[in-house]
Amino acid sequence: MHLIPTQEEVVALLRETGALRDGHFHYPSGIHSNEYLQVPLALRYYQHQRLLSVGLSRLLRQNPEIRAMLGEVSIVVPATGGLPVAYGVCEAARAKQVYWAEREHDDEPMRFRQYVNPCPGEPVVLVDDILRTGSKLSELKQLLEASGATVLALAVIIYQPTPNTRDFGALPFYYLAKLEASYYADAAHCELCKRGAPLETVWV
Ligand SMILES: [Zn+2]
Repeated sequence: MHLIPTQEEVVALLRETGALRDGHFHYPSGIHSNEYLQVPLALRYYQHQRLLSVGLSRLLRQNPEIRAMLGEVSIVVPATGGLPVAYGVCEAARAKQVYWAEREHDDEPMRFRQYVNPCPGEPVVLVDDILRTGSKLSELKQLLEASGATVLALAVIIYQPTPNTRDFGALPFYYLAKLEASYYADAAHCELCKRGAPLETVWV
């Protein structure tokens, strides 16, 4: 394994742990796809969590501007699912702190815990296990910037773009592996449905 695991090494690890599955999947959004990825299945194993987080922190360190201020950087995640990666990156990069956003109900805006207030000018790196549509990370970025924090970069283990993925513009973006699944808007447009492949419904 390389110090920064390669795309092939990351994919092999995801397959070996059941985190990456081939088949015919129906997502809650209505989309059909030939691939399903659930990174927490790989993060169940401490050695994998550590290897992936350390790899991601090395990518961040390659940016001289970020490296120079790591000791002051907050690692912030859009939901508690990203915490294993966030703490791993924080430890390996010797960053300052970790905190996360959450929401009570799906229709409510994202917020931080009471008394967690980003400071004006606070340097932040947004972290998560995966970037798919980017909607949560985009909401988190807005929430932080509304408090005056400075978002320096975005770092995820897996980048799995969809036709609806948000554009983060010039924000430095780091990932260990990029997965390109086939997506179909619905059953009527799905090649796998046409072939009669058995369909599995996934929760998230
Ligand atoms: Zn289908």
